[in-house]
Amino acid sequence: MSLIAQNLERVLERIAVATDAAGRRADEVQLVGVTKYVDAEAARTLFEAGCHCLGESRPQELWQKAERLATLPVQWHLIGHLQTNKVRRSLPHVHLIHSVDSVRLLSAVDKEAAVLSRTVHVLLEVNISGDANKHGFAPAEAESLIPELVNYPHLQVRGLMTMASLGADAARAQADFAHLRELRDRWQSSCPEGVMLHELSTGMTGDFEQAIQEGATMVRVGSALFEGLSS
Ligand SMILES: *Cc1c(COP(=O)(O)O)cnc(C)c1O
Repeated sequence: MSLIAQNLERVLERIAVATDAAGRRADEVQLVGVTKYVDAEAARTLFEAGCHCLGESRPQELWQKAERLATLPVQWHLIGHLQTNKVRRSLPHVHLIHSVDSVRLLSAVDKEAAVLSRTVHVLLEVNISGDANKHGFAPAEAESLIPELVNYPHLQVRGLMTMASLGADAARAQADFAHLRELRDRWQSSCPEGVMLHELSTGMTGDFEQAIQEGATMVRVGSALFEGLSS
């Protein structure tokens, strides 16, 4: 078995243990394998080992890998900041954009999706920790946006994404993820018809167990899948 396949097995095992501890089913949590540290061939190995959702944080990297792996049915997730001038090239490749972080970007994606006669699935990125150097809507800003989401008919907002505070320990990360879940629960009860805030994209290599404890439906894991590879 390849090192990547062994790493994947370990990560899936950790997810199974964490979901079990949280009283959840393992299939309630989608693993997004983050391939930003590796080349397209390593991403192919990960896909072939059974991880079919792959994530990239930089749009250009996503385009390149998607083109290199075009014969595989990869579901590509964009998890990093998207500039509006890169929307057009990104949309044909993406299954889900986790990182919608401005009204301007919402409009740009909706407009481009209309051109393609497509519905694009997105998450709203929330800057839960308030770190100044992080992307994402402030919680109050996202809250006031929820009723407006009906104005973007080519977007389907499916939930929220966040990252824990910079340098957070496990307890702090868990508190951040719990905070996002509480916001999701509150907003979900008042969101307009057609808007679903089911998904919570939280958790990376260092904190996905805490994320799963706090209701993550997607975890974005990179390092743990590629550790031990010489790069
Ligand atoms: C890189 C990255 C990840 C994966 O981080 P690891 O700690 O390597 O698992 C997850 N989410 C985002 C937004 C990232 O940029």
